[in-house]
Amino acid sequence: MNTYYARARYLTSAPTLTGAPPDEGREVAFAGRSNAGKSSALNALTRQRALARTSKTPGRTQLLNFFSLDDDHRLVDLPGYGFARVPEAVKRRWQLAMADYLNRRCSLVGLILIMDLRHPLSPFDQQMLDGCQHSTLPVHILLNKADKLKRGPALNTLHAVRRTLSEYTQVSVQLFSATRPLGVDEAHAVLDDWLGLGDGAPPAQPGRTNQQTQ
Ligand code: GDP
Repeated sequence: MNTYYARARYLTSAPTLTGAPPDEGREVAFAGRSNAGKSSALNALTRQRALARTSKTPGRTQLLNFFSLDDDHRLVDLPGYGFARVPEAVKRRWQLAMADYLNRRCSLVGLILIMDLRHPLSPFDQQMLDGCQHSTLPVHILLNKADKLKRGPALNTLHAVRRTLSEYTQVSVQLFSATRPLGVDEAHAVLDDWLGLGDGAPPAQPGRTNQQTQ
């Protein structure tokens, strides 16, 4: 059981990169279409009941919500909009700010993308995947709510998503359940790797390389 992530504490929120903490150390961002279970997944991974509620507090539903693990490591919650319901101009602004963050944030070493496994690869998910490919940023997909399906159908979905994304580089996929919980150790192993927390010494070059991790 990895207890490192239980240290996560709310740090700050920022509407754009300008208000973000110094671009040092390493951070991993979390994204997901609303209701996919992003807040629940963040809470399960950090073993805290209400960590990500911070990002749903009125006034804090900004682009970037930062949580510190220690002085050099952060988790970042990226609240999306319920895409269908926002005006085109707001959508466009969000997309530009997101592209800016994915492209320019040097300490960003990977994105955890949370999907409801009963509705994977939504247009939101596709947009995030394409943005990360463009920025050569590794993505790890949590197919959440795996407790809602029997093991056979859940595995079928996992394999279908892997097949669909076989052309993408640096994309990996796993089954996950925030409520069970299921898949927490597997997700922690990816976070450890990206954040350079495995067996002590961080690797020299984190994140943005060209190898496939699926
Ligand atoms: P967010 O909008 O992506 O942050 O989603 P939430 O974390 O608020 O979850 C949306 C709903 O899905 C809530 O009712 C959660 O209790 C439920 N939920 C989240 N994860 C799971 C899961 O792994 N299994 C089940 N059965 N329900 C989940």
